[in-house]
Amino acid sequence: MSYVKGLRCRMCAREYPKTTSYVCEYCFGPLEVVYDYEGIKRSISRDSIQKGPRSLWRYRDLLPIDGEPQAGFYSGFTPLIRANNLARALGVREAWVKDDSVCHPTFSFKDRVVSVAITKAKEFGFDTVACASTGNLGNAVSAHGAQAGLKRFIFIPADLERGKIVASLIYKPTLVAVEGIYDEVNRLCSEIASRYQWAFVNINIRPYYAEGSKTIGFEIAEQLGWKAPQHVVAPVASGSLLCKIHKSFKEFHAMGLIDKPRTRIHGAQPAGAAPVYLAFKAGSDIIKPVKPVTIAKSLAMGNPADGVFVLETVKETGGTMDEATDEEIVAGIQLLAETEGVFTETAGGVTMAVTRKLVQRGAIPKDDSVVICITGNGLKTVEPLAEAIGKPFQIKPNIDAFEEKVGRHLRKSDAH
Ligand SMILES: *Cc1c(COP(=O)(O)O)cnc(C)c1O
Ligand SMILES: [Zn+2]
Repeated sequence: MSYVKGLRCRMCAREYPKTTSYVCEYCFGPLEVVYDYEGIKRSISRDSIQKGPRSLWRYRDLLPIDGEPQAGFYSGFTPLIRANNLARALGVREAWVKDDSVCHPTFSFKDRVVSVAITKAKEFGFDTVACASTGNLGNAVSAHGAQAGLKRFIFIPADLERGKIVASLIYKPTLVAVEGIYDEVNRLCSEIASRYQWAFVNINIRPYYAEGSKTIGFEIAEQLGWKAPQHVVAPVASGSLLCKIHKSFKEFHAMGLIDKPRTRIHGAQPAGAAPVYLAFKAGSDIIKPVKPVTIAKSLAMGNPADGVFVLETVKETGGTMDEATDEEIVAGIQLLAETEGVFTETAGGVTMAVTRKLVQRGAIPKDDSVVICITGNGLKTVEPLAEAIGKPFQIKPNIDAFEEKVGRHLRKSDAH
């Protein structure tokens, strides 16, 4: 059963059939999926969702597929952690961590979008999937595409972290490291997409692909006991995720699953790749591209596709934005690890650091509750941590060596 009616331009609202077009022929605006919400409303309920699979496909009526899911059978439905230690450290009444650092199988929220994109690519009859990636997307396309039996072409900036490169190569895609920034990789991919019959998940499949991000918001609302949170802090690269979280709460409300959402949605960017934050701060609607310089490589986009929609969403919901320096990113990673035992990547460090700032400056009031979106896993981005985390004690294998090097650091009460 499919509730997808077609595509519609997000700028001028012109309608298109459900094909692999992705930009409006008239105004060059991005296209978005149009659903038959009346039909969905008749079929969906809290109960039907709860009886569904423990994956993102429990929300399939609100996802843009026509047939059965063909990838990501175990993706999504990640923990929403009640983060009491973190709340105390931040000085806020209640904090929750939406932990996509353990999303199956590639440890980032990109498993969600790619599950939808690969299913769509198969529906359209493609035998090859491709993407322009800052790392995590490449990992997810490589893995899910392998499982689905598709050929894969992954394009990344050449200077990515070792962990992100290995976590693509292991699945044997064709990995192309482009000597340039992400925005150049993306531009190159648009040209390649016009020449080859490939499903570029974040180019010609993008309207469908992006819908997968809604599932993180659906889960947050369901896991909070069918209600939207007071505050959400989300990282911003292209800006798609932040906008889709907003859309997820609106859709759940329209389907009668939750009360009217009053969630303030806040955006986090790394200083050095913060074009949306800079426009927000300047009170401008125009996003000036930047050349990214940051350790948060998964967020290093200089010219974000959905930047203007992020500005709209943040303003409409009463949210705000901020940025995090490299030092603050590392401190944010450490804070989450030390308080909640969750090891996130640099993007998560950005989200953590910005959350801390927003509480400090009262944009998230101390009596409120906040959900922090942790979108990727720390084991993929160990390089920037080398100096901050110190080294293990190294000893010879005998008790004297232990006493000498480690024992004298222990308190008396630890020994007996
Ligand atoms: C891609 C990515 C994001 C940002 O996603 P957009 O939808 O492009 O804004 C955030 N965190 C991580 C870890 C990512 O890989
Ligand atoms: Zn248009």
